[in-house]
Amino acid sequence: MINRPSAFIREEWEKIYSLVLEINGIMVTDSNGVIIWVNDAFTRITGYTSEEAIGNKASLLKSGYHDSIFYKILWDTITSGEVWSGVMTNRRKDGSYYKELMSIAPLKTEEGSVTRYIAMKKDVRDFHNLGDAERQLSTEFDRVVPLMTELNDVNTALEQAKSETNAMLNATSEAIMLLSIDDRMLWLNKAFGRFFSLITQDVTDDFFHNLKSHWDRVFEDSSKIMHIVNSATESQVSEYREAVSQIWPQKRELEVYSAPVKDANEKYLGQLFVFRDVTRERAVERMKSEFVSLVSHEFRTPLTSICGYTEIMLEGDVGEFTDEQTELLKTIQRNANNLTEIIGSLLVVSRLEAGAIKLNLSVIEIHEIIDNTVELLRPQIEAKKLKLKVSVHPDLPPVEGDSQWINQIILNLLSNAYKYTHSGGTIDISANEEDNFLFIRITDSGIGMSTDEQEKLFTKFFRAENPETIKAGGTGLGLWISRSLVEMHGGEIMVMSQPGKGSTFTIKLPIKNR
Ligand code: ADP
Repeated sequence: MINRPSAFIREEWEKIYSLVLEINGIMVTDSNGVIIWVNDAFTRITGYTSEEAIGNKASLLKSGYHDSIFYKILWDTITSGEVWSGVMTNRRKDGSYYKELMSIAPLKTEEGSVTRYIAMKKDVRDFHNLGDAERQLSTEFDRVVPLMTELNDVNTALEQAKSETNAMLNATSEAIMLLSIDDRMLWLNKAFGRFFSLITQDVTDDFFHNLKSHWDRVFEDSSKIMHIVNSATESQVSEYREAVSQIWPQKRELEVYSAPVKDANEKYLGQLFVFRDVTRERAVERMKSEFVSLVSHEFRTPLTSICGYTEIMLEGDVGEFTDEQTELLKTIQRNANNLTEIIGSLLVVSRLEAGAIKLNLSVIEIHEIIDNTVELLRPQIEAKKLKLKVSVHPDLPPVEGDSQWINQIILNLLSNAYKYTHSGGTIDISANEEDNFLFIRITDSGIGMSTDEQEKLFTKFFRAENPETIKAGGTGLGLWISRSLVEMHGGEIMVMSQPGKGSTFTIKLPIKNR
């Protein structure tokens, strides 16, 4: 599409000059005399259709009747920027000769350079008197040339913009493809050819699916790329990203980004696909999570002994300590426990990122999981004098999930409600069924969050910057982990909150078909 911009200009020409065009043959050439446009009257006079004429030199019509000096004068006149007018004998497609009255003018750009020539002609047989023909042609030509010049400027600007866009898109390292609604590859950049070992000129305008055997060779799972392309062009509205693996001519991990392309009137023109090579990025991510996992494992053993020995010392098994010594030991124990928790979270994060957590699915009763978690935290909740209300009916439909991880999610949310609610506040847990989903809500009357904070809530290591949060302590990983786990279960996690009033976290899980 980007390669064929003249449609608009052609339409404009036909509209503006319809009157003059009907009667006069018009031919537009580039600065080398190659025909780039002709009208119907041209075809009527010469016998050449526009398809036959375009791409040929204007000398296509040469009859051999005029000598080279005749043509030299003509060219000298128009290349010097002047209008040439005269009678010329030309030859039609069928070989017959005809005499025409012709005016040729250069079309100059604003800077004065000549990019096009326009020739307007009349068959002299249509006139009794050559003088009449000349006068008429001259008047019409004078009307047409300024308008043609203006359109030529638009065309030049468009072509300039087109070549700039092409140059830019060809300079990017991403492979880009513009696909029409009917699956044609309308435009491909250089990187596309490089990535997939294709000569872009040869396949431009081909149907994407016609190259199926090529894609079978290029992608690890070509059905995936076919599906991506199909669903993107069918949906026409959405933007999305997907990961695909390339195996030939080179192994690459690619991220495919797709977005609809529309014109100024919001008319859908096609779908854009951008293939980004993320091989290095993914390798670095893998290295990072391997590193985190290695370091965490190495920390675990010494920490276990710190925690264990502190416990033994606090229990008095190795002798009595003064009150001050006991306080110091308790601080060591608290910090060692925090560190164990951080390392535990980091390990879960790195396993989630590496895709190393596989769900062990079973049918689970959500009320049992909630009851267990509540019992686990009840002593702390009561010690903080929080009012806890649980409204979860035992008859709720079961969900399919990994009980260990569903437990973890509820525990994260409930311990946050406990941590971020002032003493004397309330925590409500409820669950209900709606549209084949189970909704679990944990509402607290705690410190709440601003909308700004809510937006960043599920990013790794995010913690609100207020004294209460800092005092409560934490890693900023719990919600990231919870969201990843909920999504692995095909669910969603949402938040509603108001600073100073409290928060509600909602987990939406698909119900197992009964
Ligand atoms: P952590 O609690 O360990 O800091 P989370 O990922 O669980 O990490 O939570 C991230 C941040 O979100 C918290 O630090 C806190 O600022 C905010 N937050 C989470 N739950 C609540 C809540 N119920 N009320 C207010 N703020 C919350």
